[in-house]
Amino acid sequence: MTDFHGKKALVLGGSRGIGAAIVRRFAGDGADVTFTYAGSKDAADALAVETGAKAARSDAADRAAVIGTVREAGPLDILVISAGTLALGNPLDLDPDAVDRMIDVNVRAPYHAAVEAARSMPDGSRIIVIGSVNGDRMPFAGGAAYALTKSAMQGMARGLARDFGDRNITVNVIQPGPTSTDMNPEDGPMSDFMHGFMAIKRHGRAEEIAGLAAYLAGPEAGFITGSLQTIDGGFGA
Ligand code: NDP
Repeated sequence: MTDFHGKKALVLGGSRGIGAAIVRRFAGDGADVTFTYAGSKDAADALAVETGAKAARSDAADRAAVIGTVREAGPLDILVISAGTLALGNPLDLDPDAVDRMIDVNVRAPYHAAVEAARSMPDGSRIIVIGSVNGDRMPFAGGAAYALTKSAMQGMARGLARDFGDRNITVNVIQPGPTSTDMNPEDGPMSDFMHGFMAIKRHGRAEEIAGLAAYLAGPEAGFITGSLQTIDGGFGA
């Protein structure tokens, strides 16, 4: 439990999966939380009722929408960017539009959201991006474009950490390994294959990722910035 009373947080991509676990954790710890969704209105409405957080429809692929949402929800003490898509496959066959949309959601949106949030954030605020261990390690074929988007987050966090460091605003990437969500269900066909790369042979729980996000957003983490926080059961070890 972290005390987030009096803190304003925005979670981009909070209707399902890791983002929803972060909404639950932050709202449960007292933060005033807004979260976005694109397609899952029912899930977003249910989560808003459950947690008291505010749901806002905002497509991360739309730069103007992202910037407008951040501006409206601010000034923010905490920005978490969890919205993400996954397009895997042989690059010779992969739909180029799906690749470009993934780059829009996974790369362009985090950059513009982080910069917009920083315009009005108070000193000492926190920016947390959900990257992936695939930013460090891509141990199977078909993941080049996804890995590209997650490696991009590493450079972004390192650079923005320096841009905003004089205001004690920290910028960090959480890099989960396989985590049981709709994107990557533990009972899915790839599970045994993925567990083969891991020291702890199970999927992570979204709540475990939310716990790390709470730590990074909390008072003990003010000296952590420009860092990659890998939470992957040893997938990248
Ligand atoms: P899910 O597919 O379970 O959930 C994705 C969330 O992102 C949903 O709330 C979805 O909202 C939202 N989202 C997707 N596209 C958009 C968009 N265009 N605009 C706004 N919101 C959007 O995924 P996870 O929770 O598993 O993934 C969250 C993050 O964690 C992603 O960045 C992913 O790459 C990363 N990650 C996940 C891992 C895993 O194994 N699960 C491992 C490593 C990293 P809606 O449904 O309303 O559109």
